[in-house]
Amino acid sequence: MSVPIGVALLGSGGSIGRQAIEVLGEMPDAFRIVALATGSQAGLLEEQARRFHPDVVVIADERGAARLDLPSGVARASGADALEAIVAREDVDLVLVATGGLVALRSVLAALGAGKIVATANKETLVAGGHLVMPLARALAERHGADASPLHWLRPIDSEHSAIWQCLVGEDHRAVARLLLTASGGPFIDASVADLATVTPERALRHPTWRMGAKITIDSATLANKGLEIIEARWLYDVPLAAISVVIHPQSVVHSAVQFVDGSIKAQLGTPDMRLPIQYALTYPSRRPSSAAATDLVTAGRLDFRAPDENRFPALRIAREAGLAGPRASTALISSDEVAVARFLAGSLDFQGISRVLEAAVDKFCSGEPREPALEELVDLDWQVRAFAEVAR
Ligand code: MG
Repeated sequence: MSVPIGVALLGSGGSIGRQAIEVLGEMPDAFRIVALATGSQAGLLEEQARRFHPDVVVIADERGAARLDLPSGVARASGADALEAIVAREDVDLVLVATGGLVALRSVLAALGAGKIVATANKETLVAGGHLVMPLARALAERHGADASPLHWLRPIDSEHSAIWQCLVGEDHRAVARLLLTASGGPFIDASVADLATVTPERALRHPTWRMGAKITIDSATLANKGLEIIEARWLYDVPLAAISVVIHPQSVVHSAVQFVDGSIKAQLGTPDMRLPIQYALTYPSRRPSSAAATDLVTAGRLDFRAPDENRFPALRIAREAGLAGPRASTALISSDEVAVARFLAGSLDFQGISRVLEAAVDKFCSGEPREPALEELVDLDWQVRAFAEVAR
């Protein structure tokens, strides 16, 4: 029997983290959880530590770490340096990044730098830091042999990017004509511009098909999420933004597709359940049984597709422009979006105001220097954008 793959799970308390725990719990023969990290959910972390007996757990603040009630043999650590230390541990083979925010980029760079596989659900990693992350993934692939793809080292968990990845297996990059990112369209797919002006947080949080955290659910309603995914796809698959299309597909069964130079399309279909892309990122290139419901075409019945309306959902256009303008504009997009969504949820910004804030932030920060910020410069830019987005109208 082969040795289980050692996993460090960053963000074990969030929506993706808890689903990753479920998936890992079903494959104890293949994976061993070496380290668990969370921001603040001490109770949940203790529970996870009792179930999986990792070597170490990390919680953001020092006082919280000291108070943890852990089984014997489980070490504790705290702070940002602790994350960089655990991802580089010798017994960690794969780092699963389930945290949001630019802060995860530091861990991703540290993990790739230490030669670890990174499976990431974190959008900032690629949207803001694609120019830093992809060269490391490519270098690892080159070092480990001609057949290896950067996608062996940097594995997407986002369902759309997982779908595209699965469609590309066995294909020649030169045969790819277009990536087709599907979007559910969110709860306001048929709403008029006037209707959109009256959207409340409560209505926006009711996503028709996916079970997700609040931030990404609002991003799905504005289509900002799809905009961020266009930029992610551009980095992951090394295709120009002009060759990435968004297709509205309300049933969320086709998770995305690739069109090839002969005009034919390969798509990946599945139940809308994040445990599936999480599992694929862990077991690639193999597949394993899953406790998620199997896809049933007859139950699905019909699959609808239509073009997105960028007049009603301008975030899509703004994101495409940000992607073209480069990493500064993309960072402005993602950082301002976090603030704008929080303001919308708190009632201090209207629904359409989210896109207005994004556009203002991208305009303001796109043209500065350096064009390709290093990590510390990105962190600084993130703060500037956030301060701007807090008061933008
Ligand atoms: Mg997605």
